[in-house]
Amino acid sequence: MNIVQPPPLSPELIARLKNIVGEKYAVTDANDIAPYVTEERNLFHGHSPLILRPGSAAEVSAICKLATEHRIALVPQGGNTGLVGGQTPHNGEVVVSMRRLDKIREVDTASNTMTCEAGVILQNAQQRAADADRLFPLSLGAEGSCTIGGNLSTNAGGTAALAYGVAREMALGLEVVLADGRILNTLSKLKKDNTGYDLRNLFIGAEGTLGIITAATLKLFPRPHAVETAFVGLKSPADALRLLEISRDEAAGGLTSFELLADIAVDFSVRHGIDVRHPLADKHPWYVLMELSSSRDDARPTLEAILARGMEDGIVDDAVIAANLSQRSGFWKLRDEMSSAQKPEGGSIKHDVSVPVAAVPAFIEEANAAVVKLIPGSRPVPFGHLGDGNIHYNVSQPVGGDTADFMARWHDVNAVVFAIVLRMGGSISAEHGIGVLKRDELPDVKDKVAIELMRGIKAMLDPLGIMNPGKVL
Ligand code: FAD
Repeated sequence: MNIVQPPPLSPELIARLKNIVGEKYAVTDANDIAPYVTEERNLFHGHSPLILRPGSAAEVSAICKLATEHRIALVPQGGNTGLVGGQTPHNGEVVVSMRRLDKIREVDTASNTMTCEAGVILQNAQQRAADADRLFPLSLGAEGSCTIGGNLSTNAGGTAALAYGVAREMALGLEVVLADGRILNTLSKLKKDNTGYDLRNLFIGAEGTLGIITAATLKLFPRPHAVETAFVGLKSPADALRLLEISRDEAAGGLTSFELLADIAVDFSVRHGIDVRHPLADKHPWYVLMELSSSRDDARPTLEAILARGMEDGIVDDAVIAANLSQRSGFWKLRDEMSSAQKPEGGSIKHDVSVPVAAVPAFIEEANAAVVKLIPGSRPVPFGHLGDGNIHYNVSQPVGGDTADFMARWHDVNAVVFAIVLRMGGSISAEHGIGVLKRDELPDVKDKVAIELMRGIKAMLDPLGIMNPGKVL
């Protein structure tokens, strides 16, 4: 697929595009454009002559039609919290910001579904479900700003994937505007519908390269009666894995989160996070933040039984169960601040990888040794969703080292870490996607026929290559 290098947009085309959304919702001032072309971590910087903020699927369709007619490259954008540069206009594309499509069209408690427009903020979707005494379980650190459209386009995972699956498993149907402006409507509430190819799943995880999601019908779940959260100190990832097995054994489907945190990650969060406190009196080499949910009153005794078994087996060195909601949010704040708390420590080379759950301890041990051998003094900061085999394997620069020199080794460090991941049968992108960050590595790690099929699908749905060009493929 050729990357469209868009020629400068003529004033006439800019005027026609603006006309579709209305002057008020077309952003052309450089200062106002800035927040759409940079991202929180300051890793990617783009540029764009025009940000369009449509207010309906019909307006998105009109934008796409005009874009196809004049080969205008488009970058769909939701909350701009993506971590792989997928939402950034790297080559001066027009950004289609979906945040104005923020209506929850329907909550159907009998069918247990909720139909949201793409720009609904994840936290608002969660709240609306709770107001109807239901649970929308997708949960991630960026939930206050990421959108349902972005969550589906990146097939987000998050901290509850262990029990409820990833975003893909929470979507029943989609409304999508195709590159040529046609609107594909698969907004269905049906669990069972075997009428041909699963088109919905093509767009989930496509990172905006096949079309623009404008709405989705999402699954709702019963709201748990009780949620219990523990912060556990232990000696090693191997012990954490044994505790995971005990937890599954005792709690079965009630185990909703199981996060592994290295001491250095907790330390950064406590030192640099705002109002973050260490939950335990003493430090431990590793921690687990675990959560149980139940529709009955048995979450607390089950959690206590898990921790007691862990202590008897010499796995758990210390543990505290959140006594109230505020303590529980304190535990999660510590976890949620983990990414941003790495910033004050200088350069950080990031990986979002997965390996089979049983291989996580060996992966961390081998990766730590390989990375420190490659860059002596570098500081691995592994943390993440142990229950899903998904580790955010970040590496902070040596203390007092030169940040630019360290960051220049990004691909060398990636190569070392990815080699271990692939040898263990893992994935180089567990939940953040490919974007531009991992685009060049993809053909080397993905099945060749799969890449051919992906290119074929892209060519069929977006023959002119106007839809988020240069991303994924
Ligand atoms: P954006 O960043 O705006 O876009 C992401 C991609 O989706 C881009 O390729 C964009 O073109 C495309 N896109 C956006 N909206 C649409 C649409 N309507 N139609 C078509 N394409 C679209 N991710 C996880 O999976 N798990 C985590 O635990 C997690 N934790 C995070 C914590 C923090 C602090 C941060 C900053 C990010 C985290 N992320 C996590 C990454 C990010 O939040 C997710 O990728 C999120 O799903 C992106 O949503 P968004 O609305 O911000 O999308």
